[in-house]
Amino acid sequence: MHTKTLAQLSKGLRAREFSSVELVRGFLDRIDAHQPVLNAMITVLREPALAAAQAADRELAAGRGGPLAGLPIVHKDLFCTEGVLTTCGSHMLDNFVSPYDATVVAKLKSAGAITLAKSNMDEFAMGSSNETSYFGPVRNPWNTDLVPGGSSGGSAAAVAARLIPAATATDTGGSIRQPAALCGVTGVKPTYGRVSRYGMIAFASSLDQGGVIAATAEDAALILREMSGFDANDSTSVDMPVPDYLAGLDAPLAGLKIGLLKEFFDKGLDAESEKRIREALAIYERLGATLREVSLPNLPLSVPAYYVVAPAECSSNLARFDGVRFGHRAKDPRDLMDLYKRSRGEGFGAEVKRRIMTGTYVLSAGYYDAYYLKAQKVRQLISADFKRAFSEVDVLMGPTTPTPAFAIGAKTSDPITMYLNDIYTIGANLAGLPAMSIPCGFAQGLPVGLQIVGPHFSEGKLLNAAHVFQRETDWHTKVPEEFK
Ligand code: GLN
Repeated sequence: MHTKTLAQLSKGLRAREFSSVELVRGFLDRIDAHQPVLNAMITVLREPALAAAQAADRELAAGRGGPLAGLPIVHKDLFCTEGVLTTCGSHMLDNFVSPYDATVVAKLKSAGAITLAKSNMDEFAMGSSNETSYFGPVRNPWNTDLVPGGSSGGSAAAVAARLIPAATATDTGGSIRQPAALCGVTGVKPTYGRVSRYGMIAFASSLDQGGVIAATAEDAALILREMSGFDANDSTSVDMPVPDYLAGLDAPLAGLKIGLLKEFFDKGLDAESEKRIREALAIYERLGATLREVSLPNLPLSVPAYYVVAPAECSSNLARFDGVRFGHRAKDPRDLMDLYKRSRGEGFGAEVKRRIMTGTYVLSAGYYDAYYLKAQKVRQLISADFKRAFSEVDVLMGPTTPTPAFAIGAKTSDPITMYLNDIYTIGANLAGLPAMSIPCGFAQGLPVGLQIVGPHFSEGKLLNAAHVFQRETDWHTKVPEEFK
């Protein structure tokens, strides 16, 4: 059952071939069995999930139930879940039980999905390898000595190992697409504003966007349709109708104009990964698409601009964790200042502290103009580059990451090398664009991701391009040997 897609599982449930209780129990057992090695979850919700599955079975038996009725899902542990621990991968929040559901959680719940667990992640979603989690690193199911990518590493590893058919995730600079690529699964980062950020613990508010990781584009479409939409609780959420992402999946690709980003095929790209990308592009050509090289001259500035803007916003967002209202509180403080200092000092890990310090610095008087303002200007230039590109082509394609998965520990002592993993993904966040990663083969025996980026609100087109590719190829069906 675990190798079936969400779409197939939904059909099976409706046809009463199996019950939601059987399904949920099966996936819970897989989660438990592989937790000691993969460490993909932070909290497992066995009893509540089984109770919800029983209720779903009653609905299904009566011919009722929402579009996701009885289907199992996990949430990245930065989506607030009512009555459930929501840690953000941090010691700071390791005792935080949320009093409410994030909009994404509430929407998926009301569509009938059942939450089995909260997935492991980099602390406050800061990382590219899932090694900054307070709860320990997640391991890549394709080779457990390697990282799964980050920050949604738990969600990606769980889908790759088929511990769950689909998972929520978030992407501030690549955290959906990058782990999806390194784990060989499908990840969608929607347009900024498409999915509500209410109840999603903030890292960098102008960049954060919730999305989905699943095995196939069709499954991602199924989840995205339910999680998207306007929310009065998020002032940046966009009031636009949500299209039926499933309806357009099979549209022919003849005439699709694909732009190849010159800056994405640079010398930093692993040669074997590049081969897989070029082979994927040849398939698109065969399907009737045309390829043309385009250049985004300011794109090479995206990493430095991001690593000014994101820390600046994080230093402000994380100021609320002071040991007073919620979060970790240091024992026996001498005075208020001691309470603040020690609570934050003990509660946050090294990477989060590095970001807070960088962010505070670039926002400080005297440096604001030199760093923060300049980064914002560069951000505008990058957005303008994308806009120009999309006046010539329908979508952009290229690699998601420069290399396949790397070893746990290989880059932890060198933050700059770690940050460069995001070189191909950050541009879409700075410009607020939708983007996805789909598996397109293997290099050095490890999955390679093809990235597809589109204009604002073109999720439907991206999913269509991904789905048609997945009809032609079987990379998205590959499961690592030990998890078959
Ligand atoms: N790796 C990037 C960072 O550490 C992106 C993280 C993310 O998208 N949440 O900031």
